Amino acid sequence: MERIEQEKKTVGEMIAIYCRKHHSRGGNDLCDECRALLDYAHRRLDRCPKGNGKSSCRKCEIHCYSPENREKIRKIMRYVGPRMLFYHPLSAIRHLISEMK
Ligand SMILES: [Zn+2]
Repeated sequence: MERIEQEKKTVGEMIAIYCRKHHSRGGNDLCDECRALLDYAHRRLDRCPKGNGKSSCRKCEIHCYSPENREKIRKIMRYVGPRMLFYHPLSAIRHLISEMK
């Protein structure tokens, strides 16, 4: 899988886990805030000027998230990261978490 697609999938899974635990409305749908954040994250990946050529956002010199959205993503990753690694020990996820610390 291409890096961009992998990161999209990973960020989507993380937001879904966080939302279910914190804002659950009883179904599998994301709340409005989490859906907006997921759309935002996907748009950033779509527009990443480095495309699939770079190995990880961690090594990127462009900080493309706004401070507000970056803080939201960090909060989600701090919560979900350790739980997700338990189930999905993928190196792609480790990348994502380490870049947000
Ligand atoms: Zn939510």
